[in-house]
Amino acid sequence: MSIKYPSLTQFRRIVVKVGSSLLVDAATGLRREWLNALAHDLASLHKSGADILVVSSGAIALGRSVLKYPAGSLKLEEAQAAAAVGQIELARIWAEVLGAKGIIAGQILLTYGDTEERRRYLNARETLGKLLELRAIPIINENDTVATSEIRYGDNDRLAARVASMASADCLVLLSDIDGLYSAPPASDPDAKLIPLVPRITAEIEAVAGGAASELSRGGMRTKVEAAKIAVSAGVHMVIANGKRSNPVKHVIEGGPCTWFLTPSNPVTARKRWIGGTLEPKGILTIDRGAATALQKGNSLLPAGVTHSEGDFLRGDVVILRDYKGAELGRGLIAYDAQDTVQILGRKTQDIATILGYQGRNNLIHRDDLVLIGD
Ligand code: GLU
Repeated sequence: MSIKYPSLTQFRRIVVKVGSSLLVDAATGLRREWLNALAHDLASLHKSGADILVVSSGAIALGRSVLKYPAGSLKLEEAQAAAAVGQIELARIWAEVLGAKGIIAGQILLTYGDTEERRRYLNARETLGKLLELRAIPIINENDTVATSEIRYGDNDRLAARVASMASADCLVLLSDIDGLYSAPPASDPDAKLIPLVPRITAEIEAVAGGAASELSRGGMRTKVEAAKIAVSAGVHMVIANGKRSNPVKHVIEGGPCTWFLTPSNPVTARKRWIGGTLEPKGILTIDRGAATALQKGNSLLPAGVTHSEGDFLRGDVVILRDYKGAELGRGLIAYDAQDTVQILGRKTQDIATILGYQGRNNLIHRDDLVLIGD
């Protein structure tokens, strides 16, 4: 059976991760010409209708050149100071190169907790969603200045995979300084062959990725395979390609060397599986007939349709939905804490702000966060 390679142009939402060593040359600084060419590639995908998100490293690399830190490793606080200085530069450069193509850039800085903890996850996801709806390109990096060792990703490969999952992207492109995954380290083994397609991440593939980093930047092949695991289990295809050449994304589209990791799933199914199966429900909402019919038609759950709330859940927790007879209808991620839910249930959406004293979300459960039985 021959497996078909995906084509980058078939995807509707693509995350592109750009490593520090691609953006910044240790001796000469920012690689502007290269970046302009990449912006050109991204703009043409964007123009053809795809949503684009960029996970960009380079804050520390840019900052250390501004601060004139000598080569070599930095202490944590030095790296954080460099990131503080460099991130301003990085965001400005991206805004400039995308602006030249008529595209608006928006900066998002995330820590590990923002992508793992469900309350914060919902907020970050809503912001990303809004930016994409506005046709802007979010430029995302780890919030290096506040992240301590326990709460950091430390590498943007895994961060990019989490972002892809969070944004329900269907493709993740990791631009690296190597063509893809090789059967052995290409620098030391002349027989090393590029593996063009990984249909499934096996123990053998993990062994091939080994521990050795091929790059100047943090993430070696190991973190790329870790990222692939996160991506494929979230229904995201991933491709590793060499970013060192000019127009690297165009090169992938034209069939240049790269390694594809395929997902057997898609973002919607993977997300529904996550909500429906892997998260423990923390509460129960009883909803009226009108709301049940509205949900079947693909609408979100509004407070007005809820007759009863049980359990001590927090915003972002999973709750079970039941009909008035007690039969389970489905599950979803709730946008309000239990305390607030009790106050707004049965009430009109436009009254939420007056009742709670703050303007929350219109929906109690957004339809994207809802899995109905039989879905
Ligand atoms: N967040 C770091 C930076 O912007 C880079 C991490 C990485 O390259 O994986 O410098």
